[in-house]
Amino acid sequence: MNSSINHPTISTEEIIRPTRLEIDLNILAENYRQIKKHVANTKMMPILKANGYGHGLVRVAQLMQKLGADYIGVAVLEEGILLREQGVNIPILVLGGIWGNQIPHFLKHDLTITASSIEKLNQIDELAGQMKLKAKVHLKIDTGLERIGVHYYSAEKLLEATLKCRNLEVEGIFSHFANSDNLELNFTRLQLERFMEVLQFYEKHSLQFPIRHISKSGSILQMPEANLDMVRPGLLLYGVYPSQEIPHTVKVKPASTWKSLVVYFKVIKANHPVGYGLTWQSDHDVRSITVPVGYGDGYFRSMSHKAEVLLNGKRYPVIGRISMDQIVVNIEKDSAYNGDEVILFGSDGENIITVEELADWAGTIPYEILTNINTRVPRVYIE
Ligand SMILES: *Cc1c(COP(=O)(O)O)cnc(C)c1O
Repeated sequence: MNSSINHPTISTEEIIRPTRLEIDLNILAENYRQIKKHVANTKMMPILKANGYGHGLVRVAQLMQKLGADYIGVAVLEEGILLREQGVNIPILVLGGIWGNQIPHFLKHDLTITASSIEKLNQIDELAGQMKLKAKVHLKIDTGLERIGVHYYSAEKLLEATLKCRNLEVEGIFSHFANSDNLELNFTRLQLERFMEVLQFYEKHSLQFPIRHISKSGSILQMPEANLDMVRPGLLLYGVYPSQEIPHTVKVKPASTWKSLVVYFKVIKANHPVGYGLTWQSDHDVRSITVPVGYGDGYFRSMSHKAEVLLNGKRYPVIGRISMDQIVVNIEKDSAYNGDEVILFGSDGENIITVEELADWAGTIPYEILTNINTRVPRVYIE
């Protein structure tokens, strides 16, 4: 095990916070293999944006490279540059839009650019020419999310414009689903149809298809016809399902466990309220533990009065308001000692608290639970 957080003078072993995110690289690798098996010959572009969904951008990227991933997808330029600086040398697509003077940095670091308009395409071509480099681009087609990309109904002009570019290679073409995490797939099917229509351009001109990709976790699970040439799994790779209702056709396991330790034990007397705002009290004496985690770590304050934790194989409720750095847990008549392990999400072998449960308590989606875990929480890797 080692931690990703370094302090200049204190060793990792000494400094490690009781609160940490443990990432099991073996589970992550197995999840990758399960998805790969499911999509068979389709290429894989694991999505590592937002610090690898909280799991640590560089470590996850190194693992994906080792496992033979064809591509890595990130959201912003800086994530791509960091990976290049850390020696990751497989193709990297930056999925987000580009602006201003970012293009030379893409070219310098051999990062693949999302070209989402004719204007941007020409800008890329011109700058690549000046730098005497060949830019790699993936064209972004908007089939219904209304975010970035040319609309499917005016995409032909963009595709035509690429034929005149001399300093770039259109290596891929992609779109993104707006509603593929539900059972109801009408709009997703419509988006796929729109995308396929755009792709007819290549057949019409007897051109080879670039790498065609549109599918993410939800559609990987339930729409094999959307696999095309490459899939872009994000959440599923980390072992979390985008929703409960859709078929779990790929068996994945949560790759991370959010843990802490008991740092305080006390008895709270009857009718003595707990925490800011005095929002909770008991009519009898209760035993309680304090755990050093709070909304400053990404343990959402909106989970107050709903959240539970695992301690010694049992679930206990968090009481009072979640504060910035600490929570209080009611263990009623049970015992606990300083240093006992507390699981915020994850499994202790038999019992489990899922990321999905935290999302319910917080009124959000699992994606936000994972990406919200602050950098203050050290990442510890199990290999
Ligand atoms: C985030 C993202 C994905 C991955 O989505 P999941 O639902 O996490 O699988 C795929 N493609 C694009 C363009 C994305 O932004």
